[in-house]
Amino acid sequence: MTKVTEGEISHGVQDVGNSNLEFPILAKGFVRQDSVHDFINSDSDGDFIALSGSKSDVVTLELNSKFMVVDPCPYLVAILDSYAAETRPLDVLASRVDLVAIYDSCDVLEAQHLALEPAYTAVCSVAVPPARLITVKRAPKQLANGNLLLGSLYTYGSLSLISKPAEYSRWNPLEELNIAKTLRDTLLPKVNTAKIVDFKSYQEYIDPAWITMFAWLPDDSNTTGEHVLVLGTASGSLWLLTLSADVKTLLSHHETKTCLSRICHIQAFQDLLLVGDSNGLIHLYQIPAKGSKTPTLVKPLWEKADRMGLQMAVITECPIKDCYYITCCKAALLLTWSMPRTGSTECLKARIYIGGMKITGLCSLDNSSYAAGTAGSYLHRVQIIHENNQLSLQMQSIAMGVLQDFQVMGLSTSRHKNLMTLFLYRNKEYMSETVPQKNQLLMQVLKVGNQDPLAQLISHLESNNPMNHYTDLLAELRLHVFAEENWQRYMDYGPLDSFQFTDSATESQLQQLQIKFHVLQFVIRLQTSHLQLTVHIQKSQDELQLLLAMLNITHIRLRLQFIGSLSMRTPFQEQATKCMFEEAHRLMNKIKTDFSEKHVLGSTANAFVEQVDNHIQLLHKNLGIPVIANPQEKQLHRCSVSLVEISPSLERRYCSLCDRQILFELENLRELYESGRNLTCPVCHGSFATEMFNV
Ligand SMILES: [Zn+2]
Repeated sequence: MTKVTEGEISHGVQDVGNSNLEFPILAKGFVRQDSVHDFINSDSDGDFIALSGSKSDVVTLELNSKFMVVDPCPYLVAILDSYAAETRPLDVLASRVDLVAIYDSCDVLEAQHLALEPAYTAVCSVAVPPARLITVKRAPKQLANGNLLLGSLYTYGSLSLISKPAEYSRWNPLEELNIAKTLRDTLLPKVNTAKIVDFKSYQEYIDPAWITMFAWLPDDSNTTGEHVLVLGTASGSLWLLTLSADVKTLLSHHETKTCLSRICHIQAFQDLLLVGDSNGLIHLYQIPAKGSKTPTLVKPLWEKADRMGLQMAVITECPIKDCYYITCCKAALLLTWSMPRTGSTECLKARIYIGGMKITGLCSLDNSSYAAGTAGSYLHRVQIIHENNQLSLQMQSIAMGVLQDFQVMGLSTSRHKNLMTLFLYRNKEYMSETVPQKNQLLMQVLKVGNQDPLAQLISHLESNNPMNHYTDLLAELRLHVFAEENWQRYMDYGPLDSFQFTDSATESQLQQLQIKFHVLQFVIRLQTSHLQLTVHIQKSQDELQLLLAMLNITHIRLRLQFIGSLSMRTPFQEQATKCMFEEAHRLMNKIKTDFSEKHVLGSTANAFVEQVDNHIQLLHKNLGIPVIANPQEKQLHRCSVSLVEISPSLERRYCSLCDRQILFELENLRELYESGRNLTCPVCHGSFATEMFNV
């Protein structure tokens, strides 16, 4: 038996201290969503939010840092028009039995159950209710071609896989593998339909094939590879399906029968699976270390069949207390369990009543605090107090004027918890004057905490993580640059003469230059959008030209320093070395001609060329490559990493942030780096994407 210590239970709406919590609004926007009032913020992981409403259109939001000054909403909307809506995989099964005879044999309750559940009776209904979208979840891994992968599940049990390249506004169905059909026809045993004569046997026949929830297993490795899908069925089974990297083939499968009824919630966090059923039960499972794919029950967290199926939950981990916090919503109650990360599964638990009818939005603000919004138009911050082996929750309201007229429909926080997105809907019927307004879901992007986005970006940036990992910090930085009170600060940020090139090149110097590059890009965007700032554009563009030379030469020096440390060189390393030397000389010559003594940046440019020239000469000596003082000025299309010429091709590999192209042959480029390094763009630190034309 495990001991459960009930923490302090708080009743009623109680505020701790004054309501002085403020989350400044950084940007606003809206999306159209059919039947907004049924909407719950379906799934969000860091920089990506998938919405689900009562209709079947998929609407997703991708956080992005490329928005304009005039419309500073950092989300890119993508849609898939109702596509799988008409697919009903259970009809095939239902058509094999005599439903009328089954109905006749039912008692009153069974007859009600059968008649009210369209999935059981669609095959013989005259007017079948349209399929609704239950959930949409993004796979943690991309497809081999770099496209995003998404699964969407509908009420009749059809599960669609769809994909799109990042930043595209339309999703496309992937039709090779039909998951529901595979489960029904291949994975489940054949059933003798002659024996199905009553409702109970009919349920036992249909429910195992009825997918009622799914999740993707997380994967932290950056390699593209297999995808693991967890399906929950109406019969309470959990299926783990391993799909090939291109999701065209099912590689392996494993079924775990649980004691739960119809599964309505699955949430994966590291190796934990939080599973809820329609009776209201909540069980915590664990997936053992690699090799085995059998989820084992760690703990039944909630065993009261209150018929409130779990809809929202958040799992976080706290490194200080060395535990997981699992927080679930039950109507207007927030329930939190803490469980040690290793060893004992003894949980502490606490609960708090948020107020109103129902919690409609929940997200974590850090390891041990949440924001919770309700249908009654309240927004609260809930803090976990975990001391002396006791757990309790404290609540504080967040002041938001907009909540007078709007109710919270969903909440999500970004990867680094610097931005919170609030979804709102007009709560007064008379405020929606037009039909489009009725379908409008408003978004407000709020600032969490009071840290400076630039300082946060500098402290978080790691050379092995591409800039794409920091989209939320970059998006906030861009919004900060666009705010009038900060203009001067960012126009003055990181003057080029503050960079010194007297010592050997380092990764950290390259990163500082890359951050300066992002700030300068945002500043130029700002200056081109505001008439009163256009006078500064020329200065910024000159600065950009010199900065790009500094970035490229620093990158070249780093690669040449690395190649110089090797005892043997591959043919590609030889080729790239020669191209990089040539480019370094071209860049230095160009700086010398473009930045005269009289130019504002003249002395900075001069000092830079003098400093790096010494290093380049030294590298020539170390690598035994003679100096070519005046390399040909041919306008070739060059790889921005190796500076080797790129020959025209239908396949393209390019930086996902600044579009600079690189050689398609990644294996060659890896020869220029220490093993284990993730290749990123030398200029902006972005990751690389591919474009392939399937002829
Ligand atoms: Zn780039």
